[in-house]
Amino acid sequence: MPLTGVPEIAVQELDDPMFRERQVRWLIARFDQTDPVVSGNKKFKLHFFLEEARASGKTRVVTFGGAFSNHLVATAKACHDLGFRSLGIVRGTGFTHESHTLKACRLYGMELLFVERDAYASMASNLGTAGLKLDADNDYLVPEGGFHPLGAAGAALMLDGIPVQNATHIVCATGTGATVAGLLRAAKPGQEVVSVPVLKNLHDLPERMATLLPGLHKMPMVFDQYHFGGYAKYNALLLDFMNTLYHNTGIPTDFVYTAKMMYAIKDQVKRGYFAEGSVILAIHTGGLQGNLSLPAGTLVF
Ligand SMILES: *Cc1c(COP(=O)(O)O)cnc(C)c1O
Repeated sequence: MPLTGVPEIAVQELDDPMFRERQVRWLIARFDQTDPVVSGNKKFKLHFFLEEARASGKTRVVTFGGAFSNHLVATAKACHDLGFRSLGIVRGTGFTHESHTLKACRLYGMELLFVERDAYASMASNLGTAGLKLDADNDYLVPEGGFHPLGAAGAALMLDGIPVQNATHIVCATGTGATVAGLLRAAKPGQEVVSVPVLKNLHDLPERMATLLPGLHKMPMVFDQYHFGGYAKYNALLLDFMNTLYHNTGIPTDFVYTAKMMYAIKDQVKRGYFAEGSVILAIHTGGLQGNLSLPAGTLVF
C-alpha cells in the first residue's frame, strides 16, 4: 500500500498573449491543490522515508527546518496522518513569537526543539548525531528538506499523476534540488528539465545531482537569475507579478518558490529561450502557506 498514493493532478493551460505570439504553450501542474497546508512536492519527497520508517518499525520521525519551513510542516502533517510521532529540530532560538508554520506543526502534534544556528548546522549535516539524544530503536531521521536519494526517488513519483507526454520542458523551483532530481529521474528522453534556484548561491547543483541521483549523470537546465536577491527575498516587481498572474489566470503562487519559477518562465519566453512549438509544463509545488508571512493585503488572493 503506498503511504501517500499518487493523486490525480489537474493540469491547467494558461492563456497569455506573449506565449501565443511565440507559439509556446504554458501548462501548470497544480500540485498546490493536493493539500491546503502541505506543499505539493513535500509529501512526495517524504514518501520513501516514511515507508522505510514504517517497515523498520520506527515510531517517531525526526527532521530539521527553519521557522517557516514547508518541509517541517509537511512532515508534521504526514506523521499525524500516518500515526507517527514527530520531532522537529528548529533552526534558531529566542523567537519572540512563533510563526504560523510552527503553530501548524504543533497542531499536527509535532514536538519542537529549538537549537542555536551553529548547533543546528552541525546536527542537520551530521543527521542528528551531534548533540541530539535519539532513541535508535524508535527514531527515524529524515534529512533537512528530504535531501537524499530517497527524497529524489519520491519526487520522481510526481510525474506519475500527470499526463506530460507532450511537454517539451518541465520546470520547477529549486531549494535543495531533491525535487528537480526526481523530475530528472522521471522525465522522458527528449524532455528538458529546468531548475529555477530560489537561493542566490546555489552553485553546487552538479554535486547535488550526483548525490541525489547516484549512478545517473543528469543535470537540469538552470535559469539562475530569478532568486530576487536570495531565499525568501522579494520586491514590488515580484509581488506585482503574483497579483497580475492571479488576476489573469486564477493561479495563486507563493513568493518564496513558485512565483519566481513562473516569473522565470515568462521572462525566458520573452527572451526567446523556448523555440516555437515548445510545451512548457510548470510544476506548481505549492508552498502557499508561506504567503501568510507577508503583510496583510499585500496579495489580492
Ligand atoms: C521545498 C519547496 C521547493 C523546493 O524543493 P527542493 O526539493 O528542496 O528543491 C519548491 N517549491 C515549494 C513550494 C517548496 O515548498
